[in-house]
Amino acid sequence: VFVLDEYDHVLRFNRACREYFPSFAQSKAGELIENIKEWAVYDFVEQPAHYELDDKVYHIKVSRMENNKVRVFVITDITDSEMAKKQLELLATRDGLTGLYNRRYFMEKMEEFKTSGTFALLDIDHFKKVNDQHGHFEGDKVLTYFGNQIIKYFKGNLYCRYGGEEFLIFIPDSTMESAFRQLEEMRKEIQMQCKVTFSAGIAVYNGNNIMEVIDRADKKLYEAKQQGRNRICY
Ligand code: GH3
Ligand code: MG
Ligand code: MG
Repeated sequence: VFVLDEYDHVLRFNRACREYFPSFAQSKAGELIENIKEWAVYDFVEQPAHYELDDKVYHIKVSRMENNKVRVFVITDITDSEMAKKQLELLATRDGLTGLYNRRYFMEKMEEFKTSGTFALLDIDHFKKVNDQHGHFEGDKVLTYFGNQIIKYFKGNLYCRYGGEEFLIFIPDSTMESAFRQLEEMRKEIQMQCKVTFSAGIAVYNGNNIMEVIDRADKKLYEAKQQGRNRICY
């Protein structure tokens, strides 16, 4: 807790204040708050309720007394609960292995897109063999690699880990042809860099039923598998 007068001079502060913000201990009586190093960058005009400093997050509550001549600042260290909140948000929205959005969050974000575009459903070829021959750990590394390739080629679009070794991408304002070209570039690079390939199906989205479009992309993906894999069908 610290107390300021109407001209921003520090009238009082408690022991916790001194422990958290050592500059208080070195200040003279009636010091201007802006001279307290840790508070020099806090906006005392707007008085935001949150203040981040040295990896910590503080909540700030201001009470005015004696006709606004005195302001009492109660600062609470909320770092732990803020971290827990962020962690929870991450767990709820992302896939733990690749860091991509999960399917549920993808669908939620999809509602923000009011444009047409294309959906691409990707599936790694013979992935079971990767696990069987090289182990689950290597399989996980391949999944992470695919996730990174998708980020590299489709940043700014919407994508997620749709399931085990399946990924879903929405490319807003794209045509079948432009989506195909973009995916082909990625497919070729993956083919050169990695022993593992993928197949994909593309379907056009016109703001109609999302599940129906994904279903169409899935049917095209099936065609790609039937035709021998390592290809993109539309
Ligand atoms: P296809 O070319 O027809 O798609 O063959 P596939 O072997 O890729 O398909 P299948 O559906 O038979 O196998 C998918 C495998 O993906 C089986 C499953 O164990 C593996 N898998 C799913 N999730 C994970 C994961 O998180 N890590 C690892 N290492 N493997 C996973
Ligand atoms: Mg699959
Ligand atoms: Mg597969």
